[in-house]
Amino acid sequence: MSTWIERESKVYMTAGGRRLKATMVRGSGARLWDDTGKEYLDFMAGWAVTNLGHCHPAITEAIIKQAQTLLITSNDLYTVPQVELAEALVENSCIDRVFFQNSGAEANEAAVKLARKWGKGNRNGAYEIITTLHSFHGRTLSMVSATGKPEGRVPYEPVPAGFVNVEFDDIAAVRNATNVNTVAVMVEPVQGEGGVNVPSPGYLQSLREWCDANNLLLIFDEVQTGFGRLGSLWGYQQSGVEPDVITLAKGLGGGVPIGAVTAKTRADAFTPGDHGTTFGGNPLVCAAALASFRYILDNRVWENAARVGAYFMDKLLGLRDIHGSLIKEVRGSGLLIALEFNQNCAMEVVTNCLGNGLVLNPVSDNAIRFMPPLIITESDADEAVKIVSGVLAEKRAAAPA
Ligand SMILES: *Cc1c(COP(=O)(O)O)cnc(C)c1O
Repeated sequence: MSTWIERESKVYMTAGGRRLKATMVRGSGARLWDDTGKEYLDFMAGWAVTNLGHCHPAITEAIIKQAQTLLITSNDLYTVPQVELAEALVENSCIDRVFFQNSGAEANEAAVKLARKWGKGNRNGAYEIITTLHSFHGRTLSMVSATGKPEGRVPYEPVPAGFVNVEFDDIAAVRNATNVNTVAVMVEPVQGEGGVNVPSPGYLQSLREWCDANNLLLIFDEVQTGFGRLGSLWGYQQSGVEPDVITLAKGLGGGVPIGAVTAKTRADAFTPGDHGTTFGGNPLVCAAALASFRYILDNRVWENAARVGAYFMDKLLGLRDIHGSLIKEVRGSGLLIALEFNQNCAMEVVTNCLGNGLVLNPVSDNAIRFMPPLIITESDADEAVKIVSGVLAEKRAAAPA
């Protein structure tokens, strides 16, 4: 075992439940290197964060330049990168207003505050937010309450009230859960952490119609789906539906920690003094995010995600012909893809892939998730498929299913 893993075990809380036994020291593009010099193909990308790969020169240069210029002021003052990034987001999406945070959970917290404030003025103080089972919205107390996963909530009860979890992809469940206290519906356009669950065509449209008919806000948590992940710049574009509020993080910063709550004018109920942050939207992270976003826009990186994603999906589906007895389903959109097995072998497969130089995520006991940088090529996809196929072949040889 690496000495770093041993040293970590003496001082670091076990809370994170680290499962991948490798210590990474360097990254470039879709590649990582560990402390022994071993090279890996990175199909986890910092958890769907490094959409342009590791240490992309455009982002690195922006960080260096900004670090030599101005790291932070207080948010009582105006700074240039923050304005420029907000303008770029507004110009290239359906939203009108932006407020920067430091993470996805924090962006969602802000969305909840915004919705509750909006409810005070527009829906007689309604405050309840309908979310879905198997969703993931973050780890703060309110977000474990919002997230449709009891295991994440029970140890910390009492958690903030005001969230109702209903089945995903079930419009009737949302209708039944709506009452005078309901102020908003919050969903991921495709559920990420819940196992890469793509809703049926029409589900998001039905949510939009229901929210319009009942004067509710529709909030899309695009922390994972934003910035090209699904093969379109924004996840909402897959459905043709425009939400009132969108939360962003992961891919926003190109690797630096930044999140954002964004809203259409009609939903922006915040007035001066309602909300704030010390670090949110500081010049350093905004400069990095702006460089990343401009590169994504200039190079239409989502088109690569769509093309290579379709190619990769096709190759993964092909694995059923070889390892049919093991594979139950391949699903996803763009470069957010899950492969589900007929048995609970996800951790074993991920561990063996890591040993063979491929970094993956076990999204559940029986499914692995691929979320590579959006700049990968067909040959990167081939390499990943080859490693997965080799690991599955060995598994079948050891214990024929
Ligand atoms: C990762 C994620 C979050 C939480 O983001 P953090 O930056 O870890 O707080 C929220 N929502 C979705 C959809 C996510 O994938």
